Amino acid sequence: MDLARTDFYLDGRWVPPSGAESLEVHDPTTEEIVATVPAGTAEDVDRAVAAARAAFGSWSATDPADRAAHLDRLHAELTARAYDIARTVVRELGTPLKVATRVQTGLPLTVLRSYVDLAARPPAPETVGNSLVVREPVGVVGAITPWNYPLHQIVAKLAPALAAGCTVVLKPSELTPLTAYLLFDAVHAAGLPPGVVNLVTGTGPVVGEAIAAHPDVDLVSFTGSTATGRRVAHLAADRIARVALELGGKSANVILDDADLTTAVKVGVGNAFLNSGQTCTAWTRMLVQRARYDEALDLVAKAAEGYQVGDPLEPATRLGPLVSAQQRDRVRAHVARGLADGGRLVVGGPDAPVPDRGFFVAPTVIADVDPDSALAQEEVFGPVLAVIPVDDDDHAVAVANNSRYGLAGAVWSADEERALRVARRLRTGAVDINGAPFNPRAPFGGYKQSGLGRELGSHGLAEFCEIKAIQR
Ligand code: NAD
Repeated sequence: MDLARTDFYLDGRWVPPSGAESLEVHDPTTEEIVATVPAGTAEDVDRAVAAARAAFGSWSATDPADRAAHLDRLHAELTARAYDIARTVVRELGTPLKVATRVQTGLPLTVLRSYVDLAARPPAPETVGNSLVVREPVGVVGAITPWNYPLHQIVAKLAPALAAGCTVVLKPSELTPLTAYLLFDAVHAAGLPPGVVNLVTGTGPVVGEAIAAHPDVDLVSFTGSTATGRRVAHLAADRIARVALELGGKSANVILDDADLTTAVKVGVGNAFLNSGQTCTAWTRMLVQRARYDEALDLVAKAAEGYQVGDPLEPATRLGPLVSAQQRDRVRAHVARGLADGGRLVVGGPDAPVPDRGFFVAPTVIADVDPDSALAQEEVFGPVLAVIPVDDDDHAVAVANNSRYGLAGAVWSADEERALRVARRLRTGAVDINGAPFNPRAPFGGYKQSGLGRELGSHGLAEFCEIKAIQR
């Protein structure tokens, strides 16, 4: 499959960029360049926003059933490309093929399906006294997305935006733009009206900032790091544009003393290492009550040692490479700092063997981590689990909430009511009790510096709406 691309998708057509610069996309397993894509400019963003603005009037007035039919066709076209999408995610991100197929490709298809349903059944206007309260699409959406779940992060914005009646300009991550191109092949084949969705690839400081600062973008929907989210929010604040921010996390997996330890540890390690730990919701702090701490550590060590590192196309591989050399070096520095700060190495570490070629980090477990130390506070974004002993439920809650983030978390207990009491005290946007499955229709988003607003389901759709009160 030739992955190289030369054009942007603007106003329903593939068109050449305004400049001559291009960006290289690397395969993190081989370290080779697999493709180039154009590096956009502010002028390209202007063209994309103009197309989205021109399309907004008719798309926002389209019957909801027609919008749902468009999304349904997009779902069919994406499904037809599922094999190529999974393989492309393996090439540009290094996710093991099984995860690339089930999660990286399967999840966004499920999310898109949920918005086919929601688009067809918009909420009825609400009557409040003499007011009719209606929802209207917010307008032109600038969507800026990261590399760790390249298709899902885009679909989580595009699908509700289109369902609500908004038009979109997308800038995917420069590390993983090839998946976005496959999505736009599907957009074109599905026959979405010109200008409804537009694609400009490029760097954050050029294309991302041009979108965030653009006077004709009504909502900037951003997923990425907290530092970049802050910059995006500053740019949008200058014109009081709406922002939705899905940012970083440092989520706690709270294992109470009556938990089924075997399952809690197995699922907990799996969650922390999913996608080589490059998951915003990863439970990267495992909090275990002291009565079961040593027992838990033995289980953690056994589970982590079972994570085979290697070629993501090999069926036995459970940990692929990290996305880039820079990310690998950052993660290694976090591990070194964690050990220097007094953490005890249980598995992996900086000297553990990994393949010579590729941006690999060995699965790493560090115990006795100080809850105030950098390893417990900073988002590492690699296969690194910090294990922290806690005294009792109150102490577990205090340590879990000792974070500037609040995105996800977990609680394990044989007593579901006890787990629920703890879950309700966690200052975080989502908590899973006893390994309950991810719900793609539930609201997703963060407390504190993990973000502003919610994605997915009907709450995600509401992000793309203005509210109007009509008195009569
Ligand atoms: P990042 O912040 O570096 O980049 C995200 C996007 O922003 C990319 O498209 C990038 O090009 C763009 N960007 C960079 N600088 C910009 C600027 N100055 N102005 C506008 N746009 C700019 O993040 P990343 O490294 O791609 O992704 C990893 C981060 O994303 C992690 O912190 C992770 O926790 C977070 N994340 C959060 C969620 C969530 O839903 N909460 C989901 C996935 C990832």
